[in-house]
Amino acid sequence: MKNIQSNIKKAKNYLDKSHCVAVPTETVYGLAGNAYSDTAVKKIFNLKRRPANNPLIVHYYNLKKISEDCEINDNFIKLYKKFSPGPITYILKLKKNSKISKFVTNNKKTVAIRFPKHPLFRKLLKNLKYPVAAPSANISSRLSAVKAADVKDEFGNKIKFILNGGVCKIGVESTILNITNKPRLLRYGGLSVSKIKKTLNQKIIININSKDKISPGLFPLHYSPGLPLRMNAKKNKKNEAFVLLKKRENISKDIYYLSKTRNLNEAARNLYSVLRKIKKDKYKSIAVEKIPNEGIGKTINDRLKRASNFK
Ligand code: AMP
Ligand code: MG
Repeated sequence: MKNIQSNIKKAKNYLDKSHCVAVPTETVYGLAGNAYSDTAVKKIFNLKRRPANNPLIVHYYNLKKISEDCEINDNFIKLYKKFSPGPITYILKLKKNSKISKFVTNNKKTVAIRFPKHPLFRKLLKNLKYPVAAPSANISSRLSAVKAADVKDEFGNKIKFILNGGVCKIGVESTILNITNKPRLLRYGGLSVSKIKKTLNQKIIININSKDKISPGLFPLHYSPGLPLRMNAKKNKKNEAFVLLKKRENISKDIYYLSKTRNLNEAARNLYSVLRKIKKDKYKSIAVEKIPNEGIGKTINDRLKRASNFK
């Protein structure tokens, strides 16, 4: 407990001075900085080598502070009550007098906001006087980090501090929903679209490949282990790693599995770690068996599809 307090204090001290620190969330690790500080936000973009036109998600402790920064509406309240804190990001209209750095939104009139659930990150947010901009803690277009060691792999000693909160429970990024108008899904994620639909009782427009570049995180190549990857494979070729949904008895050395029992939530949680391990084991290509396209399986398939654009 004492350790937790002192780590949170350390993270707060760095953030107060506009430095970046890595933070655990229930989805993936984030690379955090003061969302009101241009200096901090620019550091995030530099460290990640992220294109300036790819806006960041801003993280809040609760509802209290957001009304200073963005316009809330009925759909937001319905979803917030049901799913926040949790793996859903809302796109809302930015208020003119908001203090959010213009680098966060790339001068857009909208902002992405989320209320993360991880208890350590929540404790930290509660202690801060500003919200925190935090994209995933990985170099742009690569795999997200789901434990402190992954963050270290990505950035080495370039970041000041990692608030270690263990392994992320969900393991894939948040679901992004634009609710400035009719609800539009911009990214599949940790919360299934069917649950959102049920709560809003409205049609959700699926807009995940929008060509208007409103959400550049949706660029075709993303979430890549840096190796060619093919989906829906029946078997693997020589020297190709083979990823299965469910563990088999006689496992050969080339076989990796995402879950013990065909559980899609477990598979999502293990996805990035398995792909990282394959890369570390020096394979040159990856085959993945067919993953059912239901619930969080849709998110897994979305990530695999984007990773498969690596040539
Ligand atoms: P990451 O933080 O790495 O999970 O990526 C954040 C995602 O949120 C990216 O896909 C961004 O393009 C998206 N995003 C952030 N702000 C906005 C916004 N105002 N409108 C649309 N998408 C956004
Ligand atoms: Mg990311």
